Amino acid sequence: MDVYGLIGNPVGHSLSPPMHEAGYEALGLDARYVTFEPAPDDAARAVRGAAALGVAGLNVTIPFKRDVPEAVETDPLAERIGAVNTVTFPDDGDPRGYNTDAAGVIRALERHGVDLDGADAVVVGAGGAGRAAAFALADADATVHVANRTVERATELAEAVPGATGGRLDGLDERVPTADVLVNATSVGMEADATPVPADLLHADLTVLDAVYSPVETRLLRDAAAMGATTVDGAWMLLYQGVAAFERWTGTDAPVDAMNAALRERLE
Ligand code: NAP
Repeated sequence: MDVYGLIGNPVGHSLSPPMHEAGYEALGLDARYVTFEPAPDDAARAVRGAAALGVAGLNVTIPFKRDVPEAVETDPLAERIGAVNTVTFPDDGDPRGYNTDAAGVIRALERHGVDLDGADAVVVGAGGAGRAAAFALADADATVHVANRTVERATELAEAVPGATGGRLDGLDERVPTADVLVNATSVGMEADATPVPADLLHADLTVLDAVYSPVETRLLRDAAAMGATTVDGAWMLLYQGVAAFERWTGTDAPVDAMNAALRERLE
């Protein structure tokens, strides 16, 4: 039996175990997916321990995504993003680290029919999810503007992303009305019924992806739908980052519908 896992702290409410196990079941794979909760500064030890125990693959979540790159051979995209959320354990070498949040953003948007080539994209937020979104969108040939509450983080990220610009949240007034794609990569909307983007900036030619998946229907997505925009909830991003990890680990196309059903069952 293959054992896959997630390290995070806390990980108690993670939706990854049912999502991945639905995938194993659909393909008849003899595998389990379990969660581990190392102490906050034990990321490297946890990865070494997993390797020693023969764990087949690891996902990584808060607060470890930025620490794990030091413990693995990091692939170039994860290196640029500065965060690893998926680790493989090849037979013939050191653990390797990848970032599948980037694929989660792109595949969620593509699933909703968005053509990113030449698109004008605005990313709100410059933390882990914002960095993944900004690099992924630029790699997909979109033009990226990053807006963040702490403006220094937005400008620093924009300097690292090819062709990107960065600025304050109040600069969204100028950017969103002409944008094709808007990604909320802040945590705003998670705790309270709040939005980082004023509703009157949204429009019918826009596709809005909210990385927040709890609640699934955020205020931003409600506002976007009311304006006639295409909406993509955070569960799609969560699904496709998991799908990308699943495919990297197993070398097989993931049973996307089965994984999506398991996720939606627990979210809605
Ligand atoms: P993070 O690294 O801690 O970054 C948090 C971001 O939110 C920063 O840009 C921060 O701005 C901004 N922010 C926080 N409170 C704010 C407020 N009151 N007003 C304006 N901006 C605020 O977190 P993360 O890992 O990027 O995660 C961000 C969100 O994405 C979370 O809700 C997380 O659950 C979600 N996420 C979803 C997926 C998925 O698969 N769907 C994957 C990853 C993350 P400052 O820089 O100014 O602090």
